[in-house]
Amino acid sequence: MRVLLLGGTTEASLMARLLAQAGVDAIFSYAGRTAAPRQQPLPVRVGGFGGPEGLAAYLRDTGITRVIDATHPFAAQMSKHAITACAKVDVPLLAFERAPWIPKQGDNWLTVPDVVNAVAALPVMPAKVFLAIGKQLIRVFATRPQHEYLLRLVDSPEAPLPLANANVVIARGPFTEEGDTALMQHHCITHVVAKNAGGMGARAKLDAARALGLPVILIDRPVMPPRVIARTPEDVMKWLGHPACLGV
Ligand code: NAP
Repeated sequence: MRVLLLGGTTEASLMARLLAQAGVDAIFSYAGRTAAPRQQPLPVRVGGFGGPEGLAAYLRDTGITRVIDATHPFAAQMSKHAITACAKVDVPLLAFERAPWIPKQGDNWLTVPDVVNAVAALPVMPAKVFLAIGKQLIRVFATRPQHEYLLRLVDSPEAPLPLANANVVIARGPFTEEGDTALMQHHCITHVVAKNAGGMGARAKLDAARALGLPVILIDRPVMPPRVIARTPEDVMKWLGHPACLGV
């Protein structure tokens, strides 16, 4: 068995530890978006494969027999390419996907289907918006220049931001409710915009918003074609035919 682990998330790093501990022959794949990606206990490759055809060729050429897609729930293109490529070369694929967040009592969420609707959901009057959606989609918010934006990014921006009125915090999760509460208070945030990523480390901003009584505009996940999904690392290990490793 030879596994390709598509990464870029906390869950993928957890899977990498489990695979290494279990002695599974596996390769970890990063898109190469961040300047200093986390070290992994597996051999790492970096960069796109060149679409589904490139990925299919990679699977064939490197003798991969299983693919675990542990990319972010909003990395839909990679996940769709994995479905196409694995079907083409007949390699089993499993998506290790975190469950979406669901509201708790006291949450004030407006769920929207995409980033364009998130922009439309902002008030007309100037607001102070914590835009917790990474850097790729922030350009769309330039159509609402009356707002002051707070961005949290993994790396310092290399080019000028498309938002004139923006403060940037450089930080890498996981985050805590206490830390995010303090951050939002410090910047007098009135609205939070986030993606429904699921998972623990990124949920802190939603818990902080609830504690502060702030509204959250929550972008729904992109719809994916049907695929086999595991919700826990133990289920991924079972799918591979390995007993779950506890205590990791
Ligand atoms: P995307 O739009 O689905 O993917 C764009 C292209 O990047 C893919 O077609 C593929 O290029 C390449 N790619 C993506 N993930 C890859 C991986 N793990 N290994 C090799 N190539 C990869 O993805 P994205 O939204 O830009 O996200 C990029 C990476 O950041 C993902 O790995 C994801 O897990 C991580 N991430 C994303 C988000 C988010 O909100 N989107 C948040 C946190 C982390 P080719 O077509 O050339 O193969």
